[in-house]
Amino acid sequence: MSAPLLPGHPHIHYANDQLHVEGCSLDALSLSHGTPLFVYSKASMLDALAAYQRGFAGRNARICYAIKANSSLAILQVFAAAGCGFDIVSEGELARVLAAGADASKVIFSGVGKTRAEMAQALRVGIGCFNVESEAEIDVLNEVALSTGTRAAISIRVNPNVDPKTHPYISTGLKGNKFGIAHERTLVTYQRAAALPGLQVVGIDCHIGSQITQDTPYLDAMDRMLDLVESIEAAGIPIHHIDFGGGLGINYNGDTPPAADALWNKLLAKLDARGFGQRQLMIEPGRSLVGNAGVCVTEVLYMKPGEQKNFCIVDAAMNDLPRPAMYQAFHTIVPVQQAASPSASSEVYDVVGPVCESGDWIGHDRALQVQAGDKLAVLSAGAYCMSMSSNYNSRPKAAEILVDGTQSHLIRQRDSFADQIRGEKLL
Ligand SMILES: *Cc1c(COP(=O)(O)O)cnc(C)c1O
Repeated sequence: MSAPLLPGHPHIHYANDQLHVEGCSLDALSLSHGTPLFVYSKASMLDALAAYQRGFAGRNARICYAIKANSSLAILQVFAAAGCGFDIVSEGELARVLAAGADASKVIFSGVGKTRAEMAQALRVGIGCFNVESEAEIDVLNEVALSTGTRAAISIRVNPNVDPKTHPYISTGLKGNKFGIAHERTLVTYQRAAALPGLQVVGIDCHIGSQITQDTPYLDAMDRMLDLVESIEAAGIPIHHIDFGGGLGINYNGDTPPAADALWNKLLAKLDARGFGQRQLMIEPGRSLVGNAGVCVTEVLYMKPGEQKNFCIVDAAMNDLPRPAMYQAFHTIVPVQQAASPSASSEVYDVVGPVCESGDWIGHDRALQVQAGDKLAVLSAGAYCMSMSSNYNSRPKAAEILVDGTQSHLIRQRDSFADQIRGEKLL
């Protein structure tokens, strides 16, 4: 008996009333590894990547996974083995991709606040490109490159000033954002960079926001980018690659983002029409490669009925799943065992964690038929959950499992107390 698939989660399904990720039962995994437990589907990640690869078939394109979405080593290893490059934002992320077997020349380094030490290390290992975000950074990178006897390949991140129509905290391509160089300053900034001996201009990039669910912001940003490429090249500075960033959304709560291949069919038609179809293209997807590949399994600790609200207190919290507290984000929550508690009546609950903050909630007003001891699965937990998790309230970071068919691999063990206090010293 196999229930219908959950929409947007093709490798997460019920079989004999038990929720499975691919061929592995979440109840069985959580019995062996405890809760809260992140479980990822390798097939789901590779399917998401394949949609981009289909979209770019026959093109000169590189897919650089933006690792801040989920930077666990085994996940990086899956994408490195599949031929991806990586988009990184810190020296720590650089060390991670190298530890996972990435080819340094396929790494691009984004971020508004790169330190000199980070630049020097990235030059030493030979990354492919720095995505530079300010005029001040251009000068510093030039100095660092000259002092290390190298030339830094750069792309300038431009701010195309389009509204991605997403949450304000994850919108990055509008004038009031801290990211990128203003549209109007682009040409002079390129001229300045092209004149510096420590730099070699190779590309242009943008990244307009995250959880984008419409085509239009991408199409608009592309037009603005191509206008800029034309004016920069007219000034005698060749642009070898165009990088359109990441940002494609996923289905959290009935969201209907375009499929990656459908979106790229439209974008490539525009590139072809404007004569840029044979340029080297780059993209930096994060969430859309891993978001719906992961779930977080949590156990119900207590039911706490109240006059105004009923609370369902679970053992996962804002330190494991920070998106609701940070962005009022929605995660679907489903039972690991369907109809686990036929005696419990279905009620509406706020699903909350044990952390001492009112912001520690995972879902508001959810109809659930649960009792203490049941397990729940928080869906769409593959992106910006574990990578944003913390030890707040001295809670251990959760364990992570990567499922590949009927095989499951522990890819991160749960923090021990020793892990948590490593580096701390008593007086
Ligand atoms: C975060 C980020 C990405 C990835 O964004 P997603 O929404 O996860 O696809 C790509 N590029 C840059 C520069 C970023 O900061």
